[in-house]
Amino acid sequence: MGVGSVETFRGPVDPDRLGVTLIHEHIFVRDPELELNLPDGEWDPSSAVESAVEGLTDLHERGIRTVVDLTVPGLGRDVRLVARVAERVPVNLIASTGWYTSNVLPLYFRFHGPDRMVDRADPLIELFVRDIREGIAGEKVRAGMLKVMTGEQGLTEDVTRVMSAAAVAHQETGVTITTHSHPASRNGMEQQAFLSERGVAPERIIIGHSGDCEDIAYLRELMDNGSTIGMDRFGMEHVLSDDRRVRTVAALLELGYADRMILSHDAAFYSHVTPPAWRARSAPNWRMDTISRKIIPMLRDAGVSSDEITQMMVVNPRRLLEGAA
Ligand SMILES: [Zn+2]
Repeated sequence: MGVGSVETFRGPVDPDRLGVTLIHEHIFVRDPELELNLPDGEWDPSSAVESAVEGLTDLHERGIRTVVDLTVPGLGRDVRLVARVAERVPVNLIASTGWYTSNVLPLYFRFHGPDRMVDRADPLIELFVRDIREGIAGEKVRAGMLKVMTGEQGLTEDVTRVMSAAAVAHQETGVTITTHSHPASRNGMEQQAFLSERGVAPERIIIGHSGDCEDIAYLRELMDNGSTIGMDRFGMEHVLSDDRRVRTVAALLELGYADRMILSHDAAFYSHVTPPAWRARSAPNWRMDTISRKIIPMLRDAGVSSDEITQMMVVNPRRLLEGAA
């Protein structure tokens, strides 16, 4: 791994080659235990791979060059399956590490760790650092992003443990942390404070899902403190319309925040939570091509310049993805 290179499924790439980047997406969101016991008729690994290959190839034709897969454990991460997609598409795919839980971790973690029944180093820290340094699950794919979440329940004991482990892994590796925040409770501030107290510079934090929120004062405060905010749910109109999402981005650009926002969809080619048939019916624009097809023209109509779009889709993602130690 050369200095300044960025890890992808197919190995390190020069940051200059990242290009237009969707920095918060999911290839497949799954639950292996549910698949064994309560299978979803819509899940078929081979056809899921085909639809991801098709979708990512189409994105490349639309100018997208890099997609970050923020599917971490807790969301059914399976790098071997995603690698089958990565080897067939022209876009760079970036893997991530962390743990997705809004409340409790799997039972294993209650009994493994410092001063626990199986007294040992925290397996979460081990996992995150190994994913970044050596590769995920014995594969050569290294993680290029850390991902944590706090939900409505806030900093539960286990969520605190995940967030602390991510801060340690960040200090060891320099990899940027993306959060899943719950903007309705403005908890991005709490995430920012928690992580900065543990040595993570706010500049290396993306407060994810901030685009669900229209509270300009709150969003400015996150950015004034140094973080980038994720305007990362375009097409998720069952939560907030794209019109209103675009209006917030345009308002913040007018206030000079182009270097503090990223644009993405938080979409997936398959998710057992929101299976393809449900999406087609209830969230037809929640797809990874919505920014290219629909949102960029809307931003242009709102007076946004191509420099500002390049800043949010090329320059900011590059800054956040490069510079890992
Ligand atoms: Zn996500």
